[in-house]
Amino acid sequence: MSQSIAALREWMATISDLSEVASVLSWDQQTMMAPMGVAARSDQLATLAGVIHERFASDETGRLLDRAEKETGALDPDSDDACLVRVTRRDYGKARRVPASLRAEMSRASALARPIWAEARRKSDWSMFQPELEKSLALRRRYIECFEPADEDYDILLDDFEPGMKTADVRAIFAELSRGLVPLVAEVLRSGETVRASFLDGPFPLDAQRAAEREILEAYGFTRESWRLDDTVHPFASRSGPDDIRITTRHAPDSIHSLFSCMHEFGHGLYEHQVDRALRRTPLGRGASLAIHESQSRLWENQVGRSRAFWRRFYPGLRARFPEVFRSVEVEEFYRAANRVAPTFIRVDSDEATYNLHIILRFEMEQGMITGAIPARDVPDAWNAKVKEYLGLDVPDAARGALQDIHWSQGSIGYFSTYALGNVVAAQIWERLRADLPDLDASIEAGDFAPLRAWLRDRIHRHGRKFAPRDLVRRVTGSDLDPKPLLAYLRGKLGEIYGLAPAR
Ligand code: ZN
Repeated sequence: MSQSIAALREWMATISDLSEVASVLSWDQQTMMAPMGVAARSDQLATLAGVIHERFASDETGRLLDRAEKETGALDPDSDDACLVRVTRRDYGKARRVPASLRAEMSRASALARPIWAEARRKSDWSMFQPELEKSLALRRRYIECFEPADEDYDILLDDFEPGMKTADVRAIFAELSRGLVPLVAEVLRSGETVRASFLDGPFPLDAQRAAEREILEAYGFTRESWRLDDTVHPFASRSGPDDIRITTRHAPDSIHSLFSCMHEFGHGLYEHQVDRALRRTPLGRGASLAIHESQSRLWENQVGRSRAFWRRFYPGLRARFPEVFRSVEVEEFYRAANRVAPTFIRVDSDEATYNLHIILRFEMEQGMITGAIPARDVPDAWNAKVKEYLGLDVPDAARGALQDIHWSQGSIGYFSTYALGNVVAAQIWERLRADLPDLDASIEAGDFAPLRAWLRDRIHRHGRKFAPRDLVRRVTGSDLDPKPLLAYLRGKLGEIYGLAPAR
């Protein structure tokens, strides 16, 4: 390694260490900290974020990059060092464009808006939250102005979550997805086939839930040496190093949702755990983007965790842990219930098919909010009309409508689409890996996930952030983002459960 690249790596390593410290503090806040600790913790996290930004956006980073770039011309463009310099340059260019004062204003505004949103949701009162959203949108517009004009303003927001993705591309993907999904869901609902699922209301004693989660996670690849599982309010995965993976969940006695949530967060955690150790302490040492990350969590939660092979293996154990609830439920009935389609107002409670419609709706709302076509005061009406159109439901109140998600209160506009893009990518990857691993169902049914973990490590995880998300998808699947595999996967599974005619 040349001296100039070594110097850049050393400089970036301290920034990476500081970010990992911040993630431990944030994990602690959400799992362990006494509630009154929040004031001190906010100061600590704000100070760290300031130090990280100041150091990274400094002239020194620019000088180190200039020198390192002189050395990368001769390198293989796929080499770690060439990717390191390229990705750091991109991040640096973005970090330099936004004044520290605007960043501070944005983070202050979201800290203030969050409790107001929580109160507005509790009271189901949009008018309480509306001024906060207006302020947040005004700040996003100032943020957009920091950058060179893009094809659409929304591109600039999207790029923070999904580097290189354009609004027009997402729009085209989602248009094709909804053209397939809306009629599929309608067909399912018209089929007359009833899928009994009342047994999914429990009761499920928490100790038995925890034991069931451990059993599945340990088969997946969770080890006590490198992972933790703790309770929180909003489940998430966090890491402060490839061998310090922390996933969280939330339990309720009337649901086994936590089981699926654990599988989901495991997928996020495994991605971070399997990044090549040579990329540690560099900006490349983590997942490629939110959509790629979500493809990994969805794959373990849905493609694996809602498959027939999976439940053939794990249902007998689950049934034994909850004998009263599952006494008269055979594995096939459980499998059908785990895949039931039931439109609901609430995104996080929705099934694998209708979930994507919730995201498409939010993506359209956000574009309208940024262009000004949907002013903040009109958001609930526009929202309700879309829910009616896509899901056939009448939204009863704002709490179950436009106030349900935390994202806008945090100023995260451009984030939602990565959830459905993750589903799209997961299905593309699944198609590819089933072709590569013809015995996959048999190994899942045997509870052996090593071949799946190894495939994901070699094709996706080890690269970390080396490649742009779309480039990575092309390398793995041979094609650009494409909703057809997701539509075919859903059609195949739901068609069988609901007795639908094969697609024409
Ligand atoms: Zn996720």
